[in-house]
Amino acid sequence: MDNAALQQYIEQQQTRYIEELKEFLRISSISTSPQHANDVYQCAEWLAHAAKAVGLENVQIFPTEGHPVVYGDYIHAGDNAPTVLFYGHYDVQPTDPLNLWTNPPFEPTVRDGKIYARGAVDDKGQVFMQLKALEIHTKVIRELPVNVKVLIEGEEEIGSVHLEKFLREKLHMLAADTVLISDTAMFADEVPSICYGLRGLCYMEIEVTGPNRDLHSGVFGGAVANPANALAKILAALTDSYGRITIPGFYDDVIPLTDEEREQYRSLPHNEEEYCRELEIPATDGEFGYSTLEKTSARPSLDVNGLWGGYTGEGAKTVLPSKAYAKVSMRLVPNQNPQDIAHKFEKYVVQIAPPTVRVRVRALHGGRPVITPTRSKGIQAAMRAMEQAFGKKPFLTREGGSIPIVLLFQDILNAPVVLMGVGLNTENPHSPDEHFTLKNLYRGILASALFYKELASIWHSDKY
Ligand SMILES: [Zn+2]
Repeated sequence: MDNAALQQYIEQQQTRYIEELKEFLRISSISTSPQHANDVYQCAEWLAHAAKAVGLENVQIFPTEGHPVVYGDYIHAGDNAPTVLFYGHYDVQPTDPLNLWTNPPFEPTVRDGKIYARGAVDDKGQVFMQLKALEIHTKVIRELPVNVKVLIEGEEEIGSVHLEKFLREKLHMLAADTVLISDTAMFADEVPSICYGLRGLCYMEIEVTGPNRDLHSGVFGGAVANPANALAKILAALTDSYGRITIPGFYDDVIPLTDEEREQYRSLPHNEEEYCRELEIPATDGEFGYSTLEKTSARPSLDVNGLWGGYTGEGAKTVLPSKAYAKVSMRLVPNQNPQDIAHKFEKYVVQIAPPTVRVRVRALHGGRPVITPTRSKGIQAAMRAMEQAFGKKPFLTREGGSIPIVLLFQDILNAPVVLMGVGLNTENPHSPDEHFTLKNLYRGILASALFYKELASIWHSDKY
């Protein structure tokens, strides 16, 4: 079947697709809320049924200590063909504030070419899209040129608490050459993109101690060091006037952007004025010599996330506080290591702290940055598939946040991850009136169906 025939087939199925997707969206699988535990289970059952209906085999609901995992596979392409593991999640975020929804969150409604419901884009709609792509291979083309395994969990919105254990226990069952995830957004509508890099995180807390108790600032102020003043000096010294982070060795492991990458960044649509206007800021900030898109995804950053100490209530209290605190997070890029950065941060903060106070630094949380080689066959296949389905070449982008499961898959299954999402950040994931643009659902089904075909065709090529 050529692409035009596939497109026509997808077009003919639209009514059925919407009815089936609505069934999925009607189940209130809110993973964080104990009252919905039964709904989450029902959703797993619905999904297992849907997986069987599209022709997947060995479909099973695996219990975990939390919500179950649904698994199914279709392994008929032989040992020489690549194996793809598709990952998605069927649980959803809570729905409050309910009064801001135009229609109730579990009564899916189609308006203006979009389907509205909790989970429409994150991630039920995109899981559904992948199942329908598989259905095209198993039921219509009647051939799937790669081996496919499908793993859909019910705890993504609560931090995938039991996924790591599950991956480790089922290593053999889940072994794959490439992991495919459709749970991210495109750069913008009509700007298809594939994300190949995510930033990591190093989260620290600083505690500055001055005198052994809060003091009267009239009696002691001027002679006794104020920990809040000292903390302000420390924080101010963490970056310089060029927006560079001053911690010695901080940039040692940063992989510089290549000319090719910078060229990609320049070609992405971005309007600096609009960006500032939307945020109501006078101007953007940060590291000199880099664009806003580069600064928010491919360069490290340092932010104070919280700052407290002394008197913060209404009115005035003339206190010289005993303690002051700050929470500081750093977004990291490849190949920075969170432990190494935490160590350098601590050393530097202790070093620059005034000798008149005592400083304690604690590392609270960390995560490594991720980058997938853009020449990997998975990404190349996704690029080709997206180009055909969306009618334009997708951009390769990096995102500023982290997706911890990506690291889990890379570390445990030792397989590169392809983030082929077709959502939009403007579709209100996690917010009232979440929706999914139907034209992107249909193009996503085509792109996902073509992904398998493209992957099979380049798998044994030496070009990549
Ligand atoms: Zn999600």
